[in-house]
Amino acid sequence: MGCFPDFVGSDALRARIGDAVRRNRLSHAYLIEGPEGSGKRTFARMIAAAVSCERREDDDAPLPCGECPACKKILSDRSTDVHYLDRGDRATVSVDAVRDLRREMALSPTELDTRFFIIDDADAMTPPAQNALLISLEEPPAGVLILLLAESADGLLPTVRSRVQTLRLEPVPTEDVRKYLLRVSPEARKLESEGGGKLDAVIAASHGRIGVALAYLTPKREAALLKMRETVQNVIAAAASGARYADVCRAVFALPSKRTELAAHFVPLIEAIRDLIVLKRSPDAPLLFYVDRAGARELADRADYLRLVKIYDACRDASDAVDANGNVQTILTSLAVAVSRQN
Ligand SMILES: [Zn+2]
Repeated sequence: MGCFPDFVGSDALRARIGDAVRRNRLSHAYLIEGPEGSGKRTFARMIAAAVSCERREDDDAPLPCGECPACKKILSDRSTDVHYLDRGDRATVSVDAVRDLRREMALSPTELDTRFFIIDDADAMTPPAQNALLISLEEPPAGVLILLLAESADGLLPTVRSRVQTLRLEPVPTEDVRKYLLRVSPEARKLESEGGGKLDAVIAASHGRIGVALAYLTPKREAALLKMRETVQNVIAAAASGARYADVCRAVFALPSKRTELAAHFVPLIEAIRDLIVLKRSPDAPLLFYVDRAGARELADRADYLRLVKIYDACRDASDAVDANGNVQTILTSLAVAVSRQN
């Protein structure tokens, strides 16, 4: 039966690691790489359960089976042989924290055959902390599996990277995110029944990360997301359709004046304009922002290609200026001027 059936996406990776577990060929240390909300911690926990599962050599059972005592304990975070380290409220994971963990690695398991050390935010380990971990990665104590979790391997020293196998979690396809949300979330089912593309908006904003999609599914966050999308859509619609300066201004100045919020709006803004540019060339291309493909195509068809590129550049410039601490009012004014009809 399938490996990690409760983990959505990354099919090839699940099959590869499941096979390694079943044949006892797992390495002693892995780096699970993926953006925030992509399921790194969930996958690490499932690997621990698979390794400890009493039915792991039984091809007729899913892996992990989810039913045996070891699976149940690990999957509900109750096993004393699964150790987590993360940065908590701090900016970094310190060398002292890693040394403590190393001491812990030398002890014997209490209930399982293997002990698991899951280091979340591994890329937040200071260089001395990473160096302290090196010895454990090189000469791991018997019966220890180390799982490093990081958004990107770039934050790790080359010496650490070379001693672990990297498992990269892939974004989950849109349809699979939808199926999963409808299965597990009453809030998702409610949005779907309300219609109007609300659930599609949440799925689009998650960019294939189940954890992000689930985090959006509270009434407050949904409302904020839908409002942001509406504001962004209005700016792009005004700019792409070549509206008058006054109309563009109205749309642009509806963007938030608070810097962090404004910066957050530039992400979907740039994705939206990118969608229109891509649609000009390939009508079936995957879209990052728009959920109404027909509407987006209509908008793209009406706009001149060079005009769209110009809007894209103007949004990028404005976003850079926000990041560089420029004056927000000046930035918005320049943006409105740059994307309105007379320019
Ligand atoms: Zn099991």
